[in-house]
Amino acid sequence: MDEEMYREMKKDLRTYIMKEAELFDSLPLGMAILKGDTDLQIEFINDEFFHSLDYSMEEILEGDRNFYCFCCEEDKSLLEEMRAQSLQNRKLINKELRFLSKNGESRWLLLGIRFHEYRDGIPYFLVTSQDIDDCKKMGDEIRLQTERYKLLEEAVNEFPLEYDVQKGMIKISNSMRERYGFSKEEASVEEIIQIIHEDDREKIQKIVKEVVSQETGGVVEYRIAAGKEEAQPYIWHKTRYKSVVGSSGRIIQVVGRIYDVDKEKRIHNQLEEKARKDPMTGLLNKQVFQEDIESFFKEEPDRMHALMVIDIDDFKTVNDTFGHIFGDVVIKDVAGRISEKFRGLDIIGRVGGDEFAVLMKRITEEHARMKAQSLCEAMRKKYVENNMEHTITCSVGISFFGKDGKDYETLFKKADFAMYQAKVNGKDGYQIIDEEANTRNQEYKIVSERK
Ligand code: GH3
Ligand code: MG
Repeated sequence: MDEEMYREMKKDLRTYIMKEAELFDSLPLGMAILKGDTDLQIEFINDEFFHSLDYSMEEILEGDRNFYCFCCEEDKSLLEEMRAQSLQNRKLINKELRFLSKNGESRWLLLGIRFHEYRDGIPYFLVTSQDIDDCKKMGDEIRLQTERYKLLEEAVNEFPLEYDVQKGMIKISNSMRERYGFSKEEASVEEIIQIIHEDDREKIQKIVKEVVSQETGGVVEYRIAAGKEEAQPYIWHKTRYKSVVGSSGRIIQVVGRIYDVDKEKRIHNQLEEKARKDPMTGLLNKQVFQEDIESFFKEEPDRMHALMVIDIDDFKTVNDTFGHIFGDVVIKDVAGRISEKFRGLDIIGRVGGDEFAVLMKRITEEHARMKAQSLCEAMRKKYVENNMEHTITCSVGISFFGKDGKDYETLFKKADFAMYQAKVNGKDGYQIIDEEANTRNQEYKIVSERK
């Protein structure tokens, strides 16, 4: 190869490298060569490296070319760490660092540093940079939104429901963990079932079975046994749920929202309970008394139950003698004394002005008689007001579920008729409807049971 040819080749090579250098400048990735033992001097840098920081090439290259000058104060030690590490293990080190833009604002760059070689005893590094500021800020925004959402969650007592059907696990959100004392991020359906109020378990198990096997959705209310206060050992929740079908056609997830509806539910229940009662005496009102008995008859159709109707004798005289207000006091007092006479499982209601009724569950005729007898005695009471006195007594009529009928209306009519007969027979006593009366329609024959 002659001299001329060699020179031509070198010229071509330089032109090629020059072209490549232009290529480096137009790369969408920042590239630089830095050197230094303790500091980092810029040896080579392309346009893209600090492009997002708004510096021109002249601004970067004039001055002392100290790379640290561009780094934010807070991240300078991290940069030094990267330099030292890459020198030590010769591996590519990537880290997110903040750099100062020309207008003084900081921007996040993803910096990659790799030791290249020693020249004259000085280490050289190959460095890349990528502006990730928008991503970082978006990440911040997402974090912010998540925080906001968490706060909102706490404020509205609402939690997400995510049930991974294949794994069989339910995700427990942070706020749920705090609230119900879960230690894990997930819980199995069985674990959740364990903390559900036992009266609601069957309902939930049925829904779980249904929702994992077909595309469905709905709303369910249940109690979680996780109340912090002893007086309120469970908390009412409402869950809206929906199953999600995967590409395989199978249910892959159940999603929804869980709402803490305890406060609303308790108010609702209280109102409902109040609506069931007669406001003056606190006993069941006439309609609810009938409904409760009818549903009980369905539950236990094969046992003997007794329906007792109780009416205060000559109550009009009480009103006339003492006035209506005192009459009210007597009604409340009588109601209280009736309640005391019966077991908690019996159903007691106020079915008229001075008329009460009781369903004595699972009772024999003999016991019903004894009960009626002792009730009449307990009802007998002398009231004294403004130097006037009046003795209250009651008349009682009884019919039996099974023997005298299988529906409430028939039984009530018969017990009421028996009570009326007790009145006819002189009041302050009880009557049991006669069996024969059942075959004679309304003409009930009364077996006298006068004391
Ligand atoms: P009997 O022995 O036949 O039952 O005679 P009675 O006077 O008790 O007559 P009845 O049971 O038919 O009438 C009940 C009376 O009770 C009629 C009504 O003025 C009165 N009363 C009904 N509800 C109330 C109430 O809430 N307060 C008061 N003070 N009186 C009531
Ligand atoms: Mg009366």
